[in-house]
Amino acid sequence: MGRLQKILIPFLGLVLAFWFYSARDTFKPEMLRGKRVIVTGASTGIGEQIAYHLARMGSHILITARTEAKLQNVVRRCLELGAASARFVSGTMEDTAFAQHVVREAQTSLGGLDMLILNHVGASYFGFFDGDVEHVRKLLEINFLSYVAMTTSALPMLKESEGSIVVVSSMAGKVGFPFTVPYSATKFALDGFFSSLRQEFTIQSINVSITLCILGFIDTERAVRAAAEVLRERPAPRDECALEILKGAALRRRELYYRYSSTRLPLLLRDCAAELLDYLVRSRYR
Ligand code: NAP
Repeated sequence: MGRLQKILIPFLGLVLAFWFYSARDTFKPEMLRGKRVIVTGASTGIGEQIAYHLARMGSHILITARTEAKLQNVVRRCLELGAASARFVSGTMEDTAFAQHVVREAQTSLGGLDMLILNHVGASYFGFFDGDVEHVRKLLEINFLSYVAMTTSALPMLKESEGSIVVVSSMAGKVGFPFTVPYSATKFALDGFFSSLRQEFTIQSINVSITLCILGFIDTERAVRAAAEVLRERPAPRDECALEILKGAALRRRELYYRYSSTRLPLLLRDCAAELLDYLVRSRYR
């Protein structure tokens, strides 16, 4: 009997631990029902799809980008799909004051914030680095500094709701990519800032999660136009990508890889065979 107890109790403990962690890992759309969410860069592409998924899940949505006509259409569709509420603010993220204004709008119209999804990206070129320092500065303002500004403004509301920050990044923000040097630099900056901030949140017991999303090639219009002819791989669907981002965010994951096979698996080589990884990245191009 004693020996049975010695085996049975740890075994039951393991079963319970497994059940607890797998239950914790299960995403349910209800997790996002009624949540107050900002989505940037939501007039098109992945951001637009994120807004539609949130709408189906019954969230309150505040979207932003520059093109008002597109934002109006996305808001209309979100309301048709069942959003608890949907509204937009249009403007450019080149301007830090606008980034802060969007967060204030959430405070005024939603009365708080549960999730900040930072997804917008400024236009850049596809080709060898051309030495244009002003372009790098402008892209840093749009792709990086506005993310920092929005996070800083939103933090009091996110602390209160014990909410989440979602940062949409790229494989090009984890490993050097040719032909997108300025873009890649802005994505590496996001990793540095948000991974360090996560550490400080832990030290200060701030219960705000940060999910960094590492994406491969996705079939948005912009990406397909820029890279479909030169990349050997097929792009992954943007609606599925958007849903995976929301699952990762709701489950408060530190990093989300999509698709896993073209992002997480190659990155395993980074520390043990960096040159092989560089070669594999270069061999993606025709
Ligand atoms: P996208 O289709 O080009 O959409 C970009 C969004 O950002 C649009 O809503 C655009 O709207 C907005 N935007 C652009 N410039 C802006 C500015 N100055 N101020 C405010 N908003 C601005 O991009 P996507 O392909 O969906 O990419 C979304 C995210 O995924 C980005 O962070 C990107 O780096 C990342 N990602 C994408 C891929 C891919 O293959 N698609 C791969 C890896 C990572 P307006 O033009 O109306 O302003």
